Amino acid sequence: MSFLKLLSSLHPLSGHFRAAWRREGCLNGYIPVSVITGYDAKVCNLCKYINPDCESNSFLATKFVLRAAATLPGSVSTSEDQLSVRRQNPYPPELIESLVNQQSVLPESTSIVALMIPSSIKNSVEPLTVSVSANGYYLDVIARELGVTDASQVMVSRTIGKASSEVRLYCCTPKSYQLVSSSDSHAKEAVQGCLNERASYFAGHLIYGDAILASIGYTWRSTDLFYEDVSLHTYYRLLLSKMPSGIYKLSREAVLAAELPVVFTTRSNWRGSFPKDILCTFCRQHRLPEPVFSAASSPSESSSELPASHSNEDRNGEGLAVSGRELVDSGGAFRCEVKIFSMCQKLIIECSLKKTYKKQSDAIQNAALNVLSWLNSYFRKLDMSIEELSSLGVELDIQFYPQHFFKEFVWCQSVHNYWHSIGTYSNCLSQPNTMVEYSVRSINIEGPSSGVSPSSGSLASISISISLVAEGEDTKELLESSEEFEFEIGTGAVIPHLEAVVAQIVVGQSASFIMELPPQELVFAACNDSARALSLFSPTDCSLEYSIVLLRITEPLEERMEKALFSPPLSKQRVDYAVQHIRESCATSLVDFGCGSGSLLDSLLDYSTSLEKIVGVDISQKALTRAAKTLHSKLSPNSNTLLSNNRLKSALLYEGSVTNFDHRLSGFDVGTCLEVIEHMEEGQACLFGDIVLSLFCPRILIVSTPNFEYNVILQKSTLQSQDDDPDEKNQIQSCKFRNHDHKFEWTREQFAHWASALATRHNYSVEYSGVGGAAGVEPGFASQIAVFRRLFDSPNHIDSAHQYEVIWEWSITDSSRSAL
Ligand code: SAH
Ligand code: MG
Repeated sequence: MSFLKLLSSLHPLSGHFRAAWRREGCLNGYIPVSVITGYDAKVCNLCKYINPDCESNSFLATKFVLRAAATLPGSVSTSEDQLSVRRQNPYPPELIESLVNQQSVLPESTSIVALMIPSSIKNSVEPLTVSVSANGYYLDVIARELGVTDASQVMVSRTIGKASSEVRLYCCTPKSYQLVSSSDSHAKEAVQGCLNERASYFAGHLIYGDAILASIGYTWRSTDLFYEDVSLHTYYRLLLSKMPSGIYKLSREAVLAAELPVVFTTRSNWRGSFPKDILCTFCRQHRLPEPVFSAASSPSESSSELPASHSNEDRNGEGLAVSGRELVDSGGAFRCEVKIFSMCQKLIIECSLKKTYKKQSDAIQNAALNVLSWLNSYFRKLDMSIEELSSLGVELDIQFYPQHFFKEFVWCQSVHNYWHSIGTYSNCLSQPNTMVEYSVRSINIEGPSSGVSPSSGSLASISISISLVAEGEDTKELLESSEEFEFEIGTGAVIPHLEAVVAQIVVGQSASFIMELPPQELVFAACNDSARALSLFSPTDCSLEYSIVLLRITEPLEERMEKALFSPPLSKQRVDYAVQHIRESCATSLVDFGCGSGSLLDSLLDYSTSLEKIVGVDISQKALTRAAKTLHSKLSPNSNTLLSNNRLKSALLYEGSVTNFDHRLSGFDVGTCLEVIEHMEEGQACLFGDIVLSLFCPRILIVSTPNFEYNVILQKSTLQSQDDDPDEKNQIQSCKFRNHDHKFEWTREQFAHWASALATRHNYSVEYSGVGGAAGVEPGFASQIAVFRRLFDSPNHIDSAHQYEVIWEWSITDSSRSAL
């Protein structure tokens, strides 16, 4: 390359040459070799071509450059122990003069903040102030900070983090660097002893001794030196960006509130970076090749597809080639496969989805999310055995190749494991679906208590602020806040503590709670380096205070459709249908199987019926909590709603699965099961049918479930009425069923097949009906209903199983005195 041309250009190297000529004494004009390998992509690639080990060992590249320079005697002078090169024949002095004296707008001398990353992982990363002067060579300054005399003994890493960043690691060339690649095992061990694992992890190649992380250097953008402070905040964000959940948290700008969701429901409900993009970022961060996605259609899966006329495939949503059979007609069910390769092109992770999706892009996002979830579990528990990792993989349709996998992630073990050994927080994060109540303290809820509360599938919109509070101090330090933060309920999109609290409030209410500190790394990644936060921070006396206001709830599409397209709303029609049967049957006892948030039980209290005992059972604790709240406020003596039903003696809520028998719910007059069976796998729905009619034996059983054939109409109407909302269109088109939690939706024939066989087996009669639409008009009712009636007296069961747990209980004796 022509040096003259280079020198007058904006090439990063030209800045180094200019600075080199300003160096004083015998170093004048000398360029450190590591600068050439670090800033000249061509040279760097050439070295890697000669020996691929240069990728992970930058000293090796340095050696190649020196060797090459040595073959040019007379033009370049090298010094092996100096590790720098200089052109032997001087350039015309005028040229040097003019370049060196080029106008600079930089101040004479500047202090920048960098970080010292000690080689021992036990020593913490500390800020460090470096003073660079406009006339000195900044690498000489860094050299002195590292305890060596000049730039020639400094190694420069590749850039770290984002592609556009100038953040690099600087470390000393080990004195015995020549031995690194030699066969002298003693020397190798000695060098190994001062391996800087943290720095190596970030740089992606071996780094020995203490290292400095700084954002400084000559760039393609200006002839002046570029520099920026690098704070602990930057460092911890870099660390976060190595982990799947961290990448997600950063994309949501909610380090302390957000979590990588465990499921991808719909594109329109997802917030933050999409799984596929997160996976690509993850691979880049770990210097792995881009993940390879292949989506294929599997034509055999068309049984549960929407009718042909209603599919309008987004066949190239992700700009990918569709492999497999071409989609000529409708009903292509998509499957996706993702492969992750190591640096040397060995397959390390493979995910092949069993489930199929109506849209190619949904299949891709789901496959990517599976890989991310698996990786996330690995990062949270780095000491997991191969067996544990494999069985976790089986659940997620993932296969991994331990030998190559562990080789790619060697440094995670020490860097992240160390992090994890500090706090207990990671333990609760590894089980995103369990409530971690012990660590949430003093929940305080304010505001009117009636209104809409969030349920699974809804989008909650909250305002949130999270502060660091120190015991005994009255001030707090704001770490993270958002005026409006949206997330989908029930997908694990926020930390479990936060989701548990949101589930307890209604729109308009605010809540605050105190939580134990997460690992300090998370706090520092959030806190934008406020000096006060750092001074307040003490793992033993500090906690986090979360303050939220529930601003809005956007209900799932199914609920919105039922409200928008039916009057009264379909859910109300179902409840009214059940109420009417209950009144006509003069029932005194009722059990609502899968009572959810208690909408039926709640409405029943508004009518005069002969009911004395009402019971609800559900598998969801969250839903039961809401049901308990509603019933409690309605039945409490100081409630201003006058109970229409004055015969009611008791109301109970149980937690349990309706596929388990509990004799306390046996022999009731009426059993209801509205829109529940489609939330179970088909086998479980059949099991429930058998158990309910053979063991619970209600006199009457009312079962409702969506009529799949009616979806055509729902879809048409939604598409017409929601023209302004393309997201909504995607949502209805991408989902086979009305609701993402539905495991199936039956046609009238399928439903009748299930119900009549069931009735026959257990001596019940069955009648079909429904709500929304009409019986005689195609395609039937929107919600189909079967009413089973017991033909003989119920046998007495000796089985006295108690499988359910009482969640909430009310009885007349509690309140009769004060009520009257
Ligand atoms: N019946 C209510 C709720 C319907 S939503 C209504 O009409 O509004 C479906 C409900 O079924 C959810 O609350 C879910 O938690 C519950 N469910 C699903 N599987 C269940 C099971 N095996 N046992 C008990 N409840 C179940
Ligand atoms: Mg449903």
